[in-house]
Amino acid sequence: MTDLANYSNIRAVLERNGFNFKKSLGQNFLINPTVCPRMADAAVKSCDFGVLEIGPGVGVLTAELAQRASKVVSIEIDRRLQPVLAETMADYDNVKIIFDDFMRLDAAALISNEFGGMPVAVCANLPYYITSPIIMRLLESRLPIDNITVMVQKEAADRLCAAPGTRQCGAVSVAVGYYSQPKVLFQVSRGSFMPPPNVDSSVIQLSVLGRPPVKVSDEKGFFTFIRASFSTRRKTLSNAVGGVIGCSKAEFAELLGSLGIPSQVRAEQLTLEQFAAIYNRLNEEK
Ligand code: SAM
Repeated sequence: MTDLANYSNIRAVLERNGFNFKKSLGQNFLINPTVCPRMADAAVKSCDFGVLEIGPGVGVLTAELAQRASKVVSIEIDRRLQPVLAETMADYDNVKIIFDDFMRLDAAALISNEFGGMPVAVCANLPYYITSPIIMRLLESRLPIDNITVMVQKEAADRLCAAPGTRQCGAVSVAVGYYSQPKVLFQVSRGSFMPPPNVDSSVIQLSVLGRPPVKVSDEKGFFTFIRASFSTRRKTLSNAVGGVIGCSKAEFAELLGSLGIPSQVRAEQLTLEQFAAIYNRLNEEK
């Protein structure tokens, strides 16, 4: 069994297979042996868990997940890693690697076919170039997932986990808060990766909610409204959403006033509950 907690072993297996890193695929592999066990411990809450991993790379995290979970299914876009993973995963009979682009897969069908009724976690050191699209795809599809425990760039972590009503909050933070309870678990320095990226990272955990904390009359329309709200940071909410609300500025100011919200409010000052209240009222008045 290849000991993947050892940097020399990781280098050796990659060199043996003539692997060179592709920056365009976000290939920064973990070489700090303390990180993967902590991620796996957080994601796999009991030994009956199934885990979906995106981007196993050389398999450092995959091995830790396999030691804790009932089954691990890992999706890797880069077929050049096939011989590498064949070698590093040879001793794990509960790991299945699928070589494909995660963004093209039917994740709901995959989870149902591969994990049956098991509780499921998603755990990954995500390729930085598609962090938010992957997370939003997982959340918006309402997949039967217990938690999403992933490493992302620190700035992305701060944005994804920002509480509504705080300066860092954006459309993606509101969406994350609608579907899950987000938490930053720990920080990981850039020196923990090969090759080292230009920024530090954080491991975050999104505990997926069975039901959103607020009720909205039309989810798709709600998120169009949220995206418009944050589309221009310097503008007031009223100016930002002008094109999507179908009422005059004066009527919108009156609506905000009736909810006790100042007319000059900006999107980042609003809570999820306030967003839902404004959106539902707008829909009532249509
Ligand atoms: N898990 C490994 C680790 O922690 O060392 C590798 C993490 S590396 C940051 C991201 C991995 O995701 C790479 O192996 C890359 O090839 C893979 N990847 C990139 N885009 C992908 C996609 N769309 N679908 C599946 N895997 C992808």
